[in-house]
Amino acid sequence: MSFEYDDSNIFARILRGEIPNDTVAETEHTLAFRDIDPKAPSHVLVIPKGKYVTFDDFAANASEAEIVDFMRVTARIARDEGLSTGHGGNGFRAITNAGNDGVQEVPHFHLHILGGRVIGPMVV
Ligand code: 5GP
Repeated sequence: MSFEYDDSNIFARILRGEIPNDTVAETEHTLAFRDIDPKAPSHVLVIPKGKYVTFDDFAANASEAEIVDFMRVTARIARDEGLSTGHGGNGFRAITNAGNDGVQEVPHFHLHILGGRVIGPMVV
């Protein structure tokens, strides 16, 4: 079974420039912008520019260049936001929600980077 991408999702519209966003990083393959409803002092969403629905879609079907770029942009944001433990920060949480049981709201793969306070225990 393959992943069906819905071109009308809100992040697809952001990538097409139809909706403004507060960009923190952009490369050939990756865009990162601030969450419109931040759950922590730093709350950045990192998305691939390619059409991937979930983490497992991205990990299975994206090129190595896309995946490496995504990881490196994520690390750079953690550093630039002052969160990276390797650069004097206090740490952060990076999470992704996938599908119905993961309570994924926007069906374009994204990683949430949350930090700037203790994020608290995982709630499941
Ligand atoms: P999910 O539940 O899919 O993992 O998270 C989707 C996230 O996207 C939520 O944290 C929500 O606040 C954020 N979001 C939804 N619509 C927009 C938007 O138009 N712009 C931005 N920047 N974030 C959005």
